[in-house]
Amino acid sequence: MILVQGTLLHRGKANDVYTTGNENLLIIDHSDRISAGNGAKTDVIFGKGKSNNAVSELVFNLLEKVGVKTHFVERYSDTAMVVKRAEMILLEVICRNKTWGSFCKRYECDKGITVFPAGVEFCLKDDALGDPFMPEWAITTLGYATAEEVKLIEQFVRKANYVMLELFDKLGLELIDFKLEFGRLKDRSIIVCDEISLDTCRLIDNKTGQNLDKDRFRNNLGGVKEAYEEVLNRLK
Ligand code: UDP
Repeated sequence: MILVQGTLLHRGKANDVYTTGNENLLIIDHSDRISAGNGAKTDVIFGKGKSNNAVSELVFNLLEKVGVKTHFVERYSDTAMVVKRAEMILLEVICRNKTWGSFCKRYECDKGITVFPAGVEFCLKDDALGDPFMPEWAITTLGYATAEEVKLIEQFVRKANYVMLELFDKLGLELIDFKLEFGRLKDRSIIVCDEISLDTCRLIDNKTGQNLDKDRFRNNLGGVKEAYEEVLNRLK
């Protein structure tokens, strides 16, 4: 496909979104910017954008194969991909296979407790409010999604979890949890949007028990660049 990158539509914390010559398509460029704590801490990690673009592409392709539609169209460059333009659903959907992160803070519990079947939780995508947890009745009352959409999204997340657990296991990584975002196409069908990368998945190396994900940055563990590089190398 010959597509011309247009103007910058949105500069996010980590990614830049561009218009294209086709109104139904956008280009997402994964930058090397990294941030945590709602932008409180920022840095630049050389090669992160390339790693995130590659992991996202791989997972999106895998999801398509099992019938979970995504916004992925094709790779544009080492750091960018062409995606379908969708109306974003303002929810962050988290899937947990083990207790970790904000879950442990919320309930003051140990990390690493197995969650089976996986826990799926919906949060409002709103930085100013700190992405608060949202029960289904609140989502439907406030019109963020219909009950049918919530049900479908949960099915998509569970299916994605199933294939992602298997994929990352093959790479020697345990998928602890991850976040997905969704959008609606003009025909109202629901697709997975945004990215699925080390920024949005928590992954533990099977051999060393170390995080190979954004937690290295969030928790000042060091070796951030090396972690993004390591996972990119395992894909090859
Ligand atoms: N996550 C994300 N964006 C967010 C919040 C969470 O991608 O704004 C991902 C995060 O990388 C992890 C999972 O969702 O893989 C669960 O995160 P959690 O709720 O435990 O919050 P955190 O520990 O990241 O504050």
